[in-house]
Amino acid sequence: MFPMVTEFMNYGKQTTRVARYIGQSFIIPLSHTNCLSVTIQYPYEKSITSERFRSRIHFEFDKCIACEVCVHICPINLPIVDWKLEKYIKKKQLLHYSINFGVCLFCGNCVEFCPTNCLLMTEEYELSTYDRHELNYNQISVTNVNN
Ligand code: SF4
Ligand code: SF4
Repeated sequence: MFPMVTEFMNYGKQTTRVARYIGQSFIIPLSHTNCLSVTIQYPYEKSITSERFRSRIHFEFDKCIACEVCVHICPINLPIVDWKLEKYIKKKQLLHYSINFGVCLFCGNCVEFCPTNCLLMTEEYELSTYDRHELNYNQISVTNVNN
């Protein structure tokens, strides 16, 4: 007699739990009925990036003093700064600057520590390519925001 009662009570408890789960599964979609759609028709529409989004770096050749702070502060020493010393003015002259965005961590260290603010993180996130070597941007590509 008692085992039957216990079994019946367990059955009742399980039924209640299942009903509660089913109820919860309806509550979640119902709670989103007033929300706006978050799906966008990419690539026809582009997502709006957040305020501090970090993506491709923009570089201004004329402002760079070839100090190489960006190289030393970079966790993987990524930027390539090629320069020569102009002896008559005792200054470095920048010859070539490049960053490989296929390897870059987009940490923003180089941008933060550059003394002349010639580096800037853009919101350009469309960096996909068929050839990873194309992600090695030289000063011309890295300077062109729409590249
Ligand atoms: S830290 Fe700035 S100024 Fe110095 S080499 Fe890098 S980009 Fe040029
Ligand atoms: S964003 Fe970070 S990983 Fe990329 S070049 Fe700058 S310091 Fe290096």
